[in-house]
Amino acid sequence: MAADRRLALLGSTGSIGCQTFEVIEALGGYRLVVLSAHSQWELLARQAIQWKPEVVTIADENSYSSLKDALFGQFIKVMTGPDACREAVAELEYDIALNGLVGLSGLQPSYEVIRRGIDLALANKESLVLGGDYLNAIRAKTGSALLPVDSEHSAIFQCLFGEKSLDIHRLILTASGGPFRTWSHEQIAGVTPEQALKHPNWKMGAKVTIDSATLMNKGLEVIEAYHLFGLPIERIEVRIHPVSIVHSLVQFIDGSFKAQLGKPDMRLPIQVALNHPGRAGMPFLLQDDPTNWPALEFQTVDMEKFPCLRLAYEALVAGGTVPAVVNGADEAAVERFLKKEIRFTDIARIIASAIQSHTPRPADSIETLLSANDYGRQIALGYSAG
Ligand code: MG
Repeated sequence: MAADRRLALLGSTGSIGCQTFEVIEALGGYRLVVLSAHSQWELLARQAIQWKPEVVTIADENSYSSLKDALFGQFIKVMTGPDACREAVAELEYDIALNGLVGLSGLQPSYEVIRRGIDLALANKESLVLGGDYLNAIRAKTGSALLPVDSEHSAIFQCLFGEKSLDIHRLILTASGGPFRTWSHEQIAGVTPEQALKHPNWKMGAKVTIDSATLMNKGLEVIEAYHLFGLPIERIEVRIHPVSIVHSLVQFIDGSFKAQLGKPDMRLPIQVALNHPGRAGMPFLLQDDPTNWPALEFQTVDMEKFPCLRLAYEALVAGGTVPAVVNGADEAAVERFLKKEIRFTDIARIIASAIQSHTPRPADSIETLLSANDYGRQIALGYSAG
């Protein structure tokens, strides 16, 4: 029998982390080496007692002693602080890491995994949005594979199995369009956090749900797709597809389209990433039947109504530190919208002004990227709603 595959699971208490446990429980053959969480120490302790990793890390230092007490007698090393996860993935021995961390905290762990030439299943958007060029340059030297754990990118990844990159004509990322797809400009201006937090098809964290409503999430995904699949920007497109059955499409040079379809379930992209280049049986996903699907409609995006998507393309064209600035500005703007300090439509205004006032620099180090992100945040925090 083959030895168990050693997995580092970063963001183990989040939505992707919890679904990863469901997948590896169903598949078998995995051993956890490290579990990393932000602050949910009780859930982390339960996971650690069940999976017996060598190390658990918790970013929030206030949760350290509770976690340590909960794991007393388990022979599991507990590390804490903002750098603990990065240190653990830099030092321990494992075969693959799954990065499901939320936000900027995912960037440095991704860097460490790639620097060591270890394969990385990536759900953390910021790693590529900020560090795409930088991480790809390191990956070219170390040979670390990047395996997308995002429904759209996983769909494209699956459509490209057995295909040559020269045969790709364009990628089409699908977007649900969020809850305000059919609303007028005036209605959108008055959107409340409560309305924006209701996503029609996917249950996700607050930040990504708001980003889905502004379509910034799709903008960040365009940036990710650019770094994952290496196609020119103008050949990466977005279409609204409200029912989220077609997870994305690829058109090839002979006109043929391939798409990956199914009821929304993140356990599939997780399985695809963990088992690449094969597939593994997931009996609980086999009940999905096309006769139960709604009609599959597609629409173009109204960029006037959803300027965040246009701004993400602009950031990608500008390159360098600009995507990092956009990310930081969006992150802080969403926080302020959730606190009702700014309007929904101010999010795009803030991002536009951050792009405008920033002088782009080459993305040549993690520090440069983090400081560009912080610049974007500062612009958003300093913005006063008129
Ligand atoms: Mg997605």
